[in-house]
Amino acid sequence: MQLPPGVTSKDFSAALEQFANAVGKDWVFSSEADVNLYRDSYTPFWHEEKEPIPSAAVAPDNVEQVQQVVRIASQYKIPLWPISTGKNLGYGGAAPRMSGTVVLDLKRMNRVLEVNEKNHYALVEPGVSYFDLYHYIRERNLKVWIDPPDPGWGSLVGNALERGGGYTPMRDHFDAHCGMEIVMADGEVVRTGMGALPNSQTWQQYKYGFGPYLDGIFSQSNFGIVTKMGFWLYPEPEAYLSGTVSVPLRDDIHKMVEVFAYLANSGIVRGTTSVLKTSSFLQSDRGDTTVGLGGSTKSMEQYAAQKDLGYWSIDLPFYGAANVIAAEWEYAKEKFSVIPGVKFRDGVSYRFPLDPQQLAKIANPVPLGVPSLTTFSIGGPRSQGHIWFSPIIPMTGEAVLQAQDVFEQAYRDMGSPSAAPPGFPIWSFFSRAFVIIYFMPIEHDVEKNRRNREIFRQLIKIAAQHGWGEYRTHTAYMDDIMNAYSFNNHALLRLDETLKDALDPNGILAPGKSGVWPKRMRKANA
Ligand code: ADP
Repeated sequence: MQLPPGVTSKDFSAALEQFANAVGKDWVFSSEADVNLYRDSYTPFWHEEKEPIPSAAVAPDNVEQVQQVVRIASQYKIPLWPISTGKNLGYGGAAPRMSGTVVLDLKRMNRVLEVNEKNHYALVEPGVSYFDLYHYIRERNLKVWIDPPDPGWGSLVGNALERGGGYTPMRDHFDAHCGMEIVMADGEVVRTGMGALPNSQTWQQYKYGFGPYLDGIFSQSNFGIVTKMGFWLYPEPEAYLSGTVSVPLRDDIHKMVEVFAYLANSGIVRGTTSVLKTSSFLQSDRGDTTVGLGGSTKSMEQYAAQKDLGYWSIDLPFYGAANVIAAEWEYAKEKFSVIPGVKFRDGVSYRFPLDPQQLAKIANPVPLGVPSLTTFSIGGPRSQGHIWFSPIIPMTGEAVLQAQDVFEQAYRDMGSPSAAPPGFPIWSFFSRAFVIIYFMPIEHDVEKNRRNREIFRQLIKIAAQHGWGEYRTHTAYMDDIMNAYSFNNHALLRLDETLKDALDPNGILAPGKSGVWPKRMRKANA
């Protein structure tokens, strides 16, 4: 059995027994078979000793039990890695950053505490998955939407804390939260925002409460364990429609993104979309093996024109009142019409609520607020898993071109084993900036993974040289990414460490999360 670093097996056994007294003996897992379930099935360390293996897992059922577990862990200096549902695939799954950490599995705490249809919000525990909340809402026929990411099997709390994104107007999941309850490293329970006011009537309606606004320090962090979280929901819209804009020339990207940014920042396009280098897909269509990497600009423009598709395209999603969104699409067309040769295609349109037969016909219902696992059926490069490389870049045509050129070149230089996806898709999961979501394969092959890890590290460095940083990362790269956020001699990390030392002096909460290590482990991991 793995032991937490610096903890004797006698102490560990005593702690496990105390955990069992707190949560019930059926909810402490320490057999190899059980612990294996908490390993990361997409780990970049397959068959290597470096793979972080938990020592055990503990699953409390309520806040009081979380407090007890934290106090026991603190007494023995046993590190805990809190997870909500542990489905964070591609970013580390349920596994901790450091071997020997005990996973604090919160999925038993899966109560939907409130859904308010009139003010459009929910209050949930960490174990509530997008599917759970969706079914709760459907069973009661409430007129509110959730905003699932793809896939929807994870939790609202875990995804929002990781600052994940979805597709509807509530797509920035951390931004859409309102109010938290947190168990601190000493076992104290804190409520943020209006939740600090006893008998508060507005915990999920007004975010800030009074005094310093602290919610942000609990996201991508190891400062506390979130045991409740409020979310703003989207009132069920009357309708949805989508339209595609395509433009013929490579350099049209500048105007296309400028118009898109205007529409998005004005609140006219409110959902997630992606800028596609349609021409790269056409190359793949042609059976060209240098998908996304080759072809002169002229030949790609000509080929795109022959196929009557643009060099670039973008799908625009519109949510709201039917006549308003029809007018918004018309307005968008007017704005894009400054680009010579621009083409428009009407996409799908729906009126809500959809009946089950209509819904069943929709291949990917996620942008309509319906959780799904269809994303797993979308083919990517063949591999045994993947992790994501996800830098944030400016919402400009220059940045799109530069990022695609830079990363494609880096791929060529490093002789990456996997083809770059056509043109590195550029997404608008968050407002005001684009994010590139790039798939990096995981193999059950030590050598290939070693090489890919090097490539990944290079990509982080190359991104940083251009002023682009990742919005989130797999546990394996948290130190690398934090290291890139180095302004003023790593002032941000130093501030995080100051907070860490003050809030968690025994260093028991998620050591290494986001590159923040407790004092007693800092040197070893520097
Ligand atoms: P998912 O919702 O995708 O299942 P996870 O439960 O795997 O997400 O959570 C993702 C990460 O977010 C975890 O690895 C952990 O670092 C952090 N996290 C998740 N839940 C909590 C929580 N309740 N309190 C503090 N951190 C959490």
